[in-house]
Amino acid sequence: MSDFLPNLLSELGLSLTTQQINQFIIFKEELLNWNKKINLTGLTEEKEIIIKHFYDSLLGLKSYEWNGQEKVLDLGTGAGFPGIPLKIIYPSLTMVLVDSLQKRVRFLEHLLKTLCWEEVQAIHGRAEELGQEKLYREKFDLVVSRAVARLPVLVEYCLPFVQVGGVFLAYKGTGGQKEGQEAAKAIEKLGGKIAKLESFLLPEQRGQRTIMVIKKVKPTPSAYPRRPGVPYKKPL
Ligand code: SAH
Repeated sequence: MSDFLPNLLSELGLSLTTQQINQFIIFKEELLNWNKKINLTGLTEEKEIIIKHFYDSLLGLKSYEWNGQEKVLDLGTGAGFPGIPLKIIYPSLTMVLVDSLQKRVRFLEHLLKTLCWEEVQAIHGRAEELGQEKLYREKFDLVVSRAVARLPVLVEYCLPFVQVGGVFLAYKGTGGQKEGQEAAKAIEKLGGKIAKLESFLLPEQRGQRTIMVIKKVKPTPSAYPRRPGVPYKKPL
């Protein structure tokens, strides 16, 4: 881990401090420990975690020019992907992690304590509800989300949180292009515009990934997001 990870991330143009390497090690160990009790990840091999969780989470740094000070929300973060790796790389980010599954939020609370990250919030809640709350609606420079829903559903979960001028980074697999076409109408309705779609290969033939950059160009109409479950059952 202590050699493999920094070497790999140098391919992304990142050079890690000892503190950052230690944070990734703590993350991996806590993840594997808690994964014995609650379902956090299907990956248990160290190399797989590094490539498919850590490296993959950081692909968002390639598709958008970050300044490292952004206010970021990770929607459906699960065990903290991609939000935690992004925060390790840019410690000055304001990071809000959201998930609808209480036991995963409990893991996150434990991890945040272990990393001494009092300033990072882990919220138990649903996108459909939080997206209508004044405290969160249109308050973020960036929203990131990986493996949560198909794009027509996902944009209704995520775009309401993005302030006009900000962006939503959707982490997708190989089907990114097709999903973009399917979601075109929904994106427009919600005040978004597809700015970029970029594909990457994970190291060691571990698959292809697509990052979609969706810019918020207009406020989201107040009817969205609809009630819990509706975006999923009746995608826009
Ligand atoms: N982003 C993580 C987890 C993906 S699993 C990763 O890439 O590894 C999808 C997660 O999204 C689950 O933990 C689930 O609880 C959460 N989720 C699904 N629908 C949601 C919603 N409407 N609001 C908030 N979280 C949701």
